[in-house]
Amino acid sequence: MRSIRRMNQPRILDGKAVAATVLEECRTETAALKQKGITPGLAVVLVGSDPASAVYVGSKARTCADLGFHSVKIELPEDTTQEELLKVVADLNADPAVHGILVQSPPPKHIDEETVIRAINPQKDVDGFHPENVAKLVLEDSSAFVPCTPAGCMKLLEISGIDTRGAEAVIIGRSMIVGKPMAMLLVAKGSDATVTIAHSRTKDLAAVCRRADILIAAVGRPEMVKADWVKPGAVVIDVGINRIPDATRKSGSRLTGDIDYAEVAPRCAAITPVPGGVGPMTIAMLMKNTIKAARQSI
Ligand code: NAD
Repeated sequence: MRSIRRMNQPRILDGKAVAATVLEECRTETAALKQKGITPGLAVVLVGSDPASAVYVGSKARTCADLGFHSVKIELPEDTTQEELLKVVADLNADPAVHGILVQSPPPKHIDEETVIRAINPQKDVDGFHPENVAKLVLEDSSAFVPCTPAGCMKLLEISGIDTRGAEAVIIGRSMIVGKPMAMLLVAKGSDATVTIAHSRTKDLAAVCRRADILIAAVGRPEMVKADWVKPGAVVIDVGINRIPDATRKSGSRLTGDIDYAEVAPRCAAITPVPGGVGPMTIAMLMKNTIKAARQSI
């Protein structure tokens, strides 16, 4: 009998669709808060003119407006001093109409990002980067603001019905924005994964990744993860956003993740695309965090 070799068709974890569901929830929650006389308010501060940051800030402000939030967008010139930025943050801290404050990363080099993060009132820190929120996340305190990208990954897994309990999870990347909070969320009670954080100094990264039932890549290296790094049947979450040259595109470039999607997809049970995977979830979770901040301000 002739054997037919079929390529596996993985499940595509459609972040755009799941984010739309989360945003619908946000719309309902916003309407309920407005009935109580509270309009969720988010202030987004952009220093300088980094084009990618400007796109992110624009998209966050549009989503706020669409949900009926009070939306404040503050654009400051590249040569804004740290003192001037701290004054803007202090004013937003004192503004009762603003429940969430976000200073778009990365700021210009002359500004110390850590100092700015620590200046944000932890109750308004919807990015979840303030040490108080980092501690609360580790302590599994439900009042914590959880960084939006890892929170979005968790929501995507949850809504997609992917059970993390007892799973072997490997995260590539140890940043405070993605890798470390992702590990905390996966290991927390209820998620109950067994977690490995791999990074630039990890020995035999491919072998470490091959252990994963759930593999999460948050590195920033285009298509680094190859098929033979992935255990057959794994769930693969690609956080990376990388712009690479592509002569077939009118723009001359395209976005790609940290996973070599074409190679890896046929091998796994489920995978997120780039774009349209984790990216839309990040913005949706920012809106969720702002609603949480508004609710906790009552
Ligand atoms: P980062 O530069 O702060 O951290 C990258 C991590 O990757 C580091 O911890 C480093 O140890 C690790 N690393 C670097 N080279 C490595 C290698 N060769 N092997 C193994 N590990 C290596 O980046 P970040 O802020 O965590 O972002 C990571 C990626 O995720 C970027 O592409 C970024 O654009 C993307 N990102 C996407 C979203 C989203 O909404 N989808 C949000 C945040 C970040």
